[in-house]
Amino acid sequence: MNSGRAVPELAEPYLRGVLATAGLDVEYVRSEKDTVYYLDGQGEEVAVLDVVGGYGSLLLGHNHPDINDYAVELLSSGVPVHAQFSKHPYANELADALNRILHRELDTEQRFYAIFTNSGAEAIEAAVKNAELDRQLRLADLTARIDTDIEAARAAVAAGAATLPEGHTDADALAEGVRSDNAARLAAGPLFLALEGGFHGKLVGSVQYTHNEVYRSPFSALAAQARFVPPNDAGALRAAVAAEDARLDTLTVVDGQVLRTAVPFPLFCALLVEPVQGEGGIHELTAEFAEQIRLVSQEIDCPVIVDEIQSGMGRTGAFLSSAQIGLEGDYYTLAKTLGGGVAKAGVMLVRENRYREAFEMVHSSTFAKDAFSCLVGNRVLEVLEADDGAVYRRAAERGERLRRMLELIVEDYPQVLREVRGRGLILGLEFADQSESGSEEIRERARSGFFGYHLAGYLLREHRIRVFPTASAMQTLRFEPSVYITDAEVDRLEQGLRELCRLLRDGDPKVFQF
Ligand code: PMP
Repeated sequence: MNSGRAVPELAEPYLRGVLATAGLDVEYVRSEKDTVYYLDGQGEEVAVLDVVGGYGSLLLGHNHPDINDYAVELLSSGVPVHAQFSKHPYANELADALNRILHRELDTEQRFYAIFTNSGAEAIEAAVKNAELDRQLRLADLTARIDTDIEAARAAVAAGAATLPEGHTDADALAEGVRSDNAARLAAGPLFLALEGGFHGKLVGSVQYTHNEVYRSPFSALAAQARFVPPNDAGALRAAVAAEDARLDTLTVVDGQVLRTAVPFPLFCALLVEPVQGEGGIHELTAEFAEQIRLVSQEIDCPVIVDEIQSGMGRTGAFLSSAQIGLEGDYYTLAKTLGGGVAKAGVMLVRENRYREAFEMVHSSTFAKDAFSCLVGNRVLEVLEADDGAVYRRAAERGERLRRMLELIVEDYPQVLREVRGRGLILGLEFADQSESGSEEIRERARSGFFGYHLAGYLLREHRIRVFPTASAMQTLRFEPSVYITDAEVDRLEQGLRELCRLLRDGDPKVFQF
């Protein structure tokens, strides 16, 4: 196929150029566990310690042998990968295995129905779509009840059994006014509640709940909007709810008098939260806030979508990081590690009391729920659950080891580092602002809006370590290695980070020269 001609750059050439400014435009040719390899000028493999971990998709590392062998076996045995609209026992088994884990961690016996998807953002959108279908059906019940009340009031007036409110002489006009005011309120569409710093994907719907304005604001006209509140601030959550007029009017008859009264309606379609915010800079929700979320969502009958796409599947030491803080959701979304590093798979799980089976007739994808990704997902769960949850224990233990190492560096370099955040193997290291550094080179990079990527470039070039900042908090480097990261690798990371901190502290421009 190689015609010898130079291949034009057509697959996001601008992005590649941006990566090149930090020396990050490297082609990796092979990977295993927490190591990726590129070829040097002589064609020799160079090993790079990868603590990005596929942005959270590689809790089991690159090319896990059990998963890979199984994937190869599936394909060579001729598994019907695409057999849409047939019986899918493998999807059912995966849903059942997920249910058993959720029942254990959430201490419930309630069923969770599963809708499989191709990506995390799609899982979020599937959850939101089911929530909107559910909201529409609840609204239809409510407006039917209001209609019945209005008709009853009109009939009472016609029969001379009730009088109209002051200022009204025509029951039909009053009824029409109530109906059209209600219709106008409902036409304004649903709202969402989400957290500042939150990240839930970049598709047309999911980007509306992703707080980062750079990603979101060009597309805000495309879908329903979210009200963002600061994490762990129950007062702000309540204020955001109170700021919206979520009431419809109805007519009631009390003591022979028609009254125009207000009834609450479900204006908010869903509240979306990450138990540990990933792209927002690795921030944990508190158990107190989790409890407030439960109270507020119950008060306004708004389902909670717990986004475990990055934090879940064992990364924090339990399958659900939300279960560790007592955060309860009506929906759970999973993706990333569900595909074991080889399949593209996501799932949204919804409690039976919120599930609308009509959803199955209106949502699907050519690629979702396929045999390959469901069977791989089943194998991933087997690996996670083996030995009574050894992988979860290992995530907690490795996370502690990594965290202690990072905390010691923070102690030694207070001028350069702010703090370590996170739990288990989702950790963030926040750098202090360097825009007043004594070095012009460092000042410039710090003011570029791309600082974290320049730090990543240094670590890759000088120490063969792959690390990235979180997407929406450029000062925070993220660490999401696999559970197989070794002590020697943690030591290597420590060396690289210490050298980086020393150069930044000393204002040494060498850090960004290449
Ligand atoms: N939710 C969270 C918490 C995420 O971290 C991400 C991806 N970083 C997504 C949703 C979107 O997932 P995907 O990239 O698979 O669409």
